[in-house]
Amino acid sequence: MTIGILAVQGAFIEHERMLESLGVSCRQLRQKSDLSGLDGVVLPGGESTVQNKLLRELDMLDPLRDMIKGGLPVLATCAGLILLAEHISNDPAVCLGTMPVTVRRNAYGRQTGSFMKEAPFEGVGDVNMIFIRAPYIEEAGKGVQVLARVDGRISAARFGSQLGISFHPELGGDTRIHQYFLQMVKGRKQN
Ligand code: GLN
Repeated sequence: MTIGILAVQGAFIEHERMLESLGVSCRQLRQKSDLSGLDGVVLPGGESTVQNKLLRELDMLDPLRDMIKGGLPVLATCAGLILLAEHISNDPAVCLGTMPVTVRRNAYGRQTGSFMKEAPFEGVGDVNMIFIRAPYIEEAGKGVQVLARVDGRISAARFGSQLGISFHPELGGDTRIHQYFLQMVKGRKQN
């Protein structure tokens, strides 16, 4: 199994370390030719405006979108969730647009928006969620399964093989969300 981690900007190393600690081999995705032969993809947190621009410049956007639409499992965290969203309520710059959700960027305020909160995550249990200038999902479209809410706001959702999370499961040492994602990847490999 090989998991590709988008490595053009942002917190990709932390995902790589966590997946490698679970015995999974990873490949950093920096150019179009890195995209072949993957079993799953991680879109890390960072700055979605920069990631969106780089994906276009590197000609990676269209192939990545095709792969995700074709069912390649994807774990998208924070800025990665913004890349997946079909609509962004406070930004016109849609990127991949494969997940039928509306997200709000920097939804908790720019400077004071980092915090931790424990909340239940469906299929995983109670999780300590770390938010860093995070978005949240304002609206979940048809077929989207809500997996977690914090203060009534959606912080995790799944649409088929796309898992979108507004917090940072790669920080803090709890590997259960990555394991949940790996189950999605294994489930697809068997089909
Ligand atoms: N605020 C960032 C954005 O809007 C996301 C923050 C993050 O990924 N931690 O792109």
